Order: sequence, then C-alpha cells, then structure tokens
Amino acid sequence: MIEIVDSDRCIGCDMCVKVCPRDVFDSGADGLAVIARKSDCQTCFLCELYCPVDALYVSPYAELDDAVDIEQLNAQNLLGSYTRNMGWDRGKMGGTDKDPTQKLRVLNRSVTNANSENSGRDRR
Ligand code: SF4
Ligand code: SF4
Repeated sequence: MIEIVDSDRCIGCDMCVKVCPRDVFDSGADGLAVIARKSDCQTCFLCELYCPVDALYVSPYAELDDAVDIEQLNAQNLLGSYTRNMGWDRGKMGGTDKDPTQKLRVLNRSVTNANSENSGRDRR
C-alpha cells in the first residue's frame, strides 16, 4: 500500500496523479502530490515506477499500514528500489536490457524493418 510521498523530492509533475488507476493522489495546494485516498490503493506500484524522482514508497504489504518513515527509507535506499529492481533506468528510452518490454520493442522494430526491406525487394 502507498505509504509516503517525500515532499523534499516531489517536483509536482502530477505523474502519479495521472497513472494511479485508483485515483489515490491529489495535487495539493502547493502543487505537490498528496495521498488523499490511501485505502483505495491496490499496491500496483505504478506510481513508484513513473515517479521521475523516486519520491514515492509503496509498501509490499497490501493490507497493512507499514510504519516507515523517510529517514528509514533513505537509510535503506528503498525509495525507487522497486523501479531499479524492475530494470527501469531513468534517462534511457525504453528502460534497460533487463526490461522485457524493451526486448519486445527491439524485436518489433527488427520485424518491421525486415518487412519493409522485403516489400521493397518485391517491387523490383
Ligand atoms: S500503488 Fe498503484 S493504486 Fe497504489 S497509489 Fe500507487 S498507482 Fe495508485
Ligand atoms: S510522480 Fe513523483 S514527483 Fe511527480 S507528483 Fe508524484 S510524487 Fe511528485
């Protein structure tokens, strides 16, 4: 369940507000994300994946309140850890070679390129 938005890291991009399928976040008066409907969280981790500055922490405990605080999360390098473990890498289009969706995209591109080369040959 979503536990924390680190207001020191949050840049108010609203990405979490947009991607959350359960409408858990609001954009606060200061523009930063706030957890408005915590009990609606379905622990899907999408907000963590899409946050560009690793300002969110989703606890793997879906049903329990996990009493974590920012100091503890920072000390254990847990902010953004789900994203890193999934192989997503900031600043690289399509993630890394550990990201299976990247492999699919590369494969699709090769197939598309091969098809266009073949159709070019057919016309000759
Ligand atoms: S874990 Fe999923 S449901 Fe929970 S706040 Fe994040 S995006 Fe929303
Ligand atoms: S995605 Fe991250 S930086 Fe953007 S509003 Fe949400 S918590 Fe803040």
